[in-house]
Amino acid sequence: MSETRFFVRASKEEVGRIFALWDAAFEDEGAPVGMREIDEAADLHEVSIYFDDAEGDREAEVAAVLDAPLRARLEREAIPETDWMKQVLAELKPVRAGRFVVHGAHDRSVVRPNDLSIEIEAGQAFGTGHHGTTAGCLDMIDRIVRRRRPGNVLDLGTGTAVLAIGAAKLARVPVLATDIDPVAIAVARENIANNRVAGLVTAEVATGMSGAAIRRRAPFDLVVANILAGPLAKLAPAVARSLAPSGDVVLSGILVRQRNAVLAAYRDQHLYHRATITRGDWVTLHLKRG
Ligand code: SAH
Repeated sequence: MSETRFFVRASKEEVGRIFALWDAAFEDEGAPVGMREIDEAADLHEVSIYFDDAEGDREAEVAAVLDAPLRARLEREAIPETDWMKQVLAELKPVRAGRFVVHGAHDRSVVRPNDLSIEIEAGQAFGTGHHGTTAGCLDMIDRIVRRRRPGNVLDLGTGTAVLAIGAAKLARVPVLATDIDPVAIAVARENIANNRVAGLVTAEVATGMSGAAIRRRAPFDLVVANILAGPLAKLAPAVARSLAPSGDVVLSGILVRQRNAVLAAYRDQHLYHRATITRGDWVTLHLKRG
């Protein structure tokens, strides 16, 4: 999935203004917007917005919200697929999804008064909010919780705990975060403490839906799993068993072409499609009973 980055270099004030304009204009589709400092002494800052190339050329729309002097300074850069993950891991830029902003410690200044901030350092565990699947899950969690606040949540395959922290900050309810990888759980626990949600989020090593922690906490009102299509399909019966009668399921890590197979596995368990968010080649699914 290649992407194009549109960016403007200007004063901090101008960059802040553009950030707000782009964020508002492209909020619905969740295009990531970020800003960073280039040269503090020279008051030179940079604001960027990213689009998947599959969505067509967006330059005209990006330019449309800028006034003429700033439009003249709009630049673009092609980001090939391979560079993308490397780049985000090297230099974590803030990412917005729903009401959330995922950022590193050095980017605390981007957090605005009504944001739900999730502070994560790019490191050993997957889940910095930059991968389309993570952002898709945050977006979906935001939409679901707006409608119905869950009583308890499971984040299966938690990685950095980005989704568990997000759900806890949003709904203020207990969240169980599990991962097959003990390194991920160690990183998750650090992030949970740093984000001051240790009172709500518990992180435990567990494979799939097995394990004492999951048994103890079930049934869940919301299960979020950002793993991959194959394991997700296999987990369908166990997920269905651990779900409260009117519970919601969010599944991600699924390629567009794998969507129907995953939906079929869950339909067999009487869990039905409610919504899909597509980001690049990846989809995030919302399922529910009945
Ligand atoms: N939830 C995070 C991380 C997703 S990456 C995010 O959305 O960004 C997927 C994570 O799932 C990895 O940390 C991996 O170790 C874990 N995982 C993979 N298969 C698993 C399984 N069967 N049971 C539990 N965790 C699993």
